[in-house]
Amino acid sequence: MRKQIAAANWKMNLTYQLGEKLLNDILEAEIAISDNQQVIFAVPFPYLIMAKSTVAHEKGYDIAAQNCSDKKNGAYTGEVSVEMLQSVGIKYIIIGHSERREYFFETNKTLADKVNICLENDITPIFCCGEALSVREKNGQNDYVQKQLEESLFHLDQDKIINVVIAYEPIWAIGTGKTASTQQAQEMHQYLRSVLANKYGHEIADQISILYGGSVKANNASELFSCPDVDGGLVGGASLVAQDFIQIIKALK
Ligand code: PGA
Repeated sequence: MRKQIAAANWKMNLTYQLGEKLLNDILEAEIAISDNQQVIFAVPFPYLIMAKSTVAHEKGYDIAAQNCSDKKNGAYTGEVSVEMLQSVGIKYIIIGHSERREYFFETNKTLADKVNICLENDITPIFCCGEALSVREKNGQNDYVQKQLEESLFHLDQDKIINVVIAYEPIWAIGTGKTASTQQAQEMHQYLRSVLANKYGHEIADQISILYGGSVKANNASELFSCPDVDGGLVGGASLVAQDFIQIIKALK
């Protein structure tokens, strides 16, 4: 059975002290996390080790990096390699968030390289995809997102693709307060699963978690997560407030 995942994406927010307090406030709620559920905090690089040790003995909680280099190691000043992240115990990395695609010009090809390095190091990429408003207005979202998957993931074999988590994040819904309707979310998630099934077969497609991202809040998480093909969420703004993210974790199926 595929995992239901609540992933917090802190982006470039919070100080070390506030981040540590936020983690502790959430853990203090002692939410029962079942075996099919996973909570992940994607925190800024300098907080990874603190975050990792804070959740170390908490069942169902883990930490992600928000990005990594597409290069293995070497003379790339300022970059952080997957091997470095692996060496401090990181198991998940967000790959290809739309902010990285837009502001840092990451292409489907670069993201394919990052996905490969993650998988070589036993790290689960949380691969982000999603269309801009202009694409949706022309009803081109299915083709657009399918191409993102084809160009960054579909070179993978069956035994690799099952170690990828996909996050569908329509760009028009990120940080805007405009959530996709449950119908829009379910339609796209179902479509993505059918694209995966066409390539890898139903058995594989059914094992891949597909998260929804874009203005997931405490008051809409249950409805979104109740969609049969929505396996939890990648949450930005609402993950910065303990009470809100606690509600979102509790909304997991
Ligand atoms: P948001 O961000 O929840 O603030 O819309 C989601 C994301 O970018 O991952």
